[in-house]
Amino acid sequence: MQSRAPGNGSGPTCSAASTDPRRALSTNLVLAVDIGGTKLAAGLVDRAGDVVAATQVATPQGAGADGLWDALVGVVRAAVAELTPGAKLVACGVGAGGPMEPEGDRVSPLNIPGWRGFPLRSRLAALTSLPTFVDNDAKALALAEGWRGAAAGSRHFIAMVVSTGVGGGVVLDGRMLEGRLGNAGHIGHVVVEPAGRLCGCGGHGCLEAEASGLAIAAATGSPAQTASPDAVDRAGTLVGRAVASVASLLDLDLAVVAGSVALGFGTPFFAAAQRELSDRARLSFSRDARIIPALLGRHGPLVGAGAVGWRGVGSPLPTPGAGSDGAPAVPR
Ligand SMILES: [Zn+2]
Repeated sequence: MQSRAPGNGSGPTCSAASTDPRRALSTNLVLAVDIGGTKLAAGLVDRAGDVVAATQVATPQGAGADGLWDALVGVVRAAVAELTPGAKLVACGVGAGGPMEPEGDRVSPLNIPGWRGFPLRSRLAALTSLPTFVDNDAKALALAEGWRGAAAGSRHFIAMVVSTGVGGGVVLDGRMLEGRLGNAGHIGHVVVEPAGRLCGCGGHGCLEAEASGLAIAAATGSPAQTASPDAVDRAGTLVGRAVASVASLLDLDLAVVAGSVALGFGTPFFAAAQRELSDRARLSFSRDARIIPALLGRHGPLVGAGAVGWRGVGSPLPTPGAGSDGAPAVPR
């Protein structure tokens, strides 16, 4: 079934990201699915982490569980239709907003109210007849940036998204941190202002409640895109403050930041973040920690979902940034 996004009257839009249509011939591919509050995207990702086709549709706002699922089915089928002769799907990898149950058996993305306890993994597995793996979208992005992005070559880093909300994933000793229920990396709920704003989690002064796009808009009365230099500086400072605590806690020397708010703010944001990080992280092992922009751009979430799929079928990701000790530099 082909779904249409309300308001724009258009179905999924497809674009081949590869300039060489022969690339997919005789190639194993992962069907990558990225589920966000703004858009639903699907694509085909090869073992090198290249997105060879991509398609997306606006997330139906206000839709119920079935309406959201119908939209997702449309975008998944559009991506599968991009398969070229000889290419074969070996898995389906999914990045979705949290929280979720372990393995993504049931997801309840905070920014998609129509899905609460939705059985995403089993529904996609039944739809695609593929081994299907689901993980948090920020953790998926960490996989992607470690594989092909700004953290390639690093075995110890945090990757963050600063956009509507704030999320993160931590790679330590070359492995993604999971935690008891798979929720490790929620840097958005590190407290940066003890008497700060009420957070969606129920606490006060979390990074997400102070520096996310929604928080900046609520605090300043205008969208984050039009934030004043002072507001940009403050957001960067608070992100750097949270990263400083995490860097000292976990012995990290690199934070990679993606997301429309951080990347939209650009250089002044990152300068403020680095200044605060350098001021606050003073231990011998953390004082040189860096905070830098993510590299993968608009396809980062699909590369991350692809990485979730490749990891799920036990296929070691290529190691372009293998460390000098020969150990794989790519998260597993
Ligand atoms: Zn919170």
